[in-house]
Amino acid sequence: MRSRVALVAAVAVAAGVVLSSGVVYVVVRHDLLSRVDGALERHAGLLEQRRAKHGLIEAIQAPRHVPAELPSAPVLAQVVTDRGRVVASEQAGLRLPVGPGVLRVAAGRARPYFADLTVTGTSVRMLVTGFGPHLALEVIRPVTDLDAELERLAAVLIVTSAAGVILALLLGAGVAGLALRPVRRLTEAAEAVASTRDLAQEIPVEGRGELARLAASINTMLEALDSSQRAQRQLVADASHELRTPLTSLRTNVEVLAEEHALDAESRQQLLADLAAQFDVLSALLADLVELARQDDPGAVLAPAQVVALDEVVGEALRRSQLHHPEVRFVSVATSATPVMVVGVAADLERAIVNLLDNAAKWSPEGGTVEVSVSAGAPDPGRDAHEAQGRSTTHDAVVIVRDQGPGIGPEDRPHVFDRFYRARSTSQVPGSGLGLAIVRRIVEAHGGSVQVEGESGEGTSMVVKLPCAGGEHASPA
Ligand code: ATP
Ligand code: MG
Repeated sequence: MRSRVALVAAVAVAAGVVLSSGVVYVVVRHDLLSRVDGALERHAGLLEQRRAKHGLIEAIQAPRHVPAELPSAPVLAQVVTDRGRVVASEQAGLRLPVGPGVLRVAAGRARPYFADLTVTGTSVRMLVTGFGPHLALEVIRPVTDLDAELERLAAVLIVTSAAGVILALLLGAGVAGLALRPVRRLTEAAEAVASTRDLAQEIPVEGRGELARLAASINTMLEALDSSQRAQRQLVADASHELRTPLTSLRTNVEVLAEEHALDAESRQQLLADLAAQFDVLSALLADLVELARQDDPGAVLAPAQVVALDEVVGEALRRSQLHHPEVRFVSVATSATPVMVVGVAADLERAIVNLLDNAAKWSPEGGTVEVSVSAGAPDPGRDAHEAQGRSTTHDAVVIVRDQGPGIGPEDRPHVFDRFYRARSTSQVPGSGLGLAIVRRIVEAHGGSVQVEGESGEGTSMVVKLPCAGGEHASPA
């Protein structure tokens, strides 16, 4: 890139320099030539005056003293008839060429003209003009001095142009290097991240240009990658920690079974039942982990979203939960007369509701009642203003699960939706703390929200809000 910039600069400068050099050369040459032409015209005018005064022979005083060669500066003239005979010359012995153009001028059939030619090996400028009836005057002036001057000018122009091009090449390379320094720094920083695999590194952001924006967005990307990587590590660490406890107790029970031969049938039965229950806990935990991992994977194939009747989903969840928890009574209250429709994946929504019902049952007192309601409420004013605007005509579907348990204390409320979080007061109830994390993930993927309501000590109300179908569909991501 750097050499390309330098090359472009050099080519641009070269083009400019060549163009201006050419113009300078042409202008200077024209100027010098017109000066010579002026001298020729003045000399012709002088001779014309003399001819008018003294006659032809007086006008052209010949012979003058004759050097063998043309003198370098002076102007010389010769008079020719329209037949081509030289009748007078300012320098005897020097014959200027007489071409058909000269004859035509002598005959009065052509206008005066200038010409460039070589006489005895010297380049000269010649003026041919009429000189009375049937006569033409040829006036010449050597232009060797002029040629030498032009040559020198050309040499100077070529040298300065070359110097200019070289300078442009160097400057271009320098400027490009300077301009590309931030890019190089970006590249180095990116390479450093690639080689150390340390996503916490930050690329320095300088200034406010495009490159600064690029650096900032790379930083944002690194941050996102870093946090997702950390979340993954956290999940793996938490999961292995959580798996250790049930595995240890399973192992202990199996060892007891293997070693204690003197176990009576009843304790043996009890031990086996414990084992089965622990296996259940373990498989539930594994299923939850797999579910969370599936939700984490952005590339996972997701079930297609459809318009789903939420009351049916909740009804099915109730049926399943009642089977699982016969010790509590699940009742459906205040369910709206018309079906409440949402867009989403029925199986996922059911899993979320079952998790809420499962919690409610676990923390309900013996023989308690769990109330569930489904309704199409007003839009949630607490939700993102922009989002709410988009659905101003649409209502939210609201599912409320209310139990008569101990409730969730204010200190636990902000955390119960975190993975593996379990309130300390409830640690004797089995569970791994993944249920509400899964609920939140599912609900948010459907564009909804879930929160804890109700005073602590008066039971728990879990409120799920989902956008109703009919307005803009929020498809689960
Ligand atoms: P899992 O659902 O993974 O079997 P869990 O039920 O303990 O385990 P979550 O469903 O995520 O985990 O709930 C987190 C914590 O929130 C619970 O441990 C409990 O302390 C508290 N909690 C949840 N629901 C209720 C409820 N209905 N009443 C009282 N506390 C609750
Ligand atoms: Mg739970």
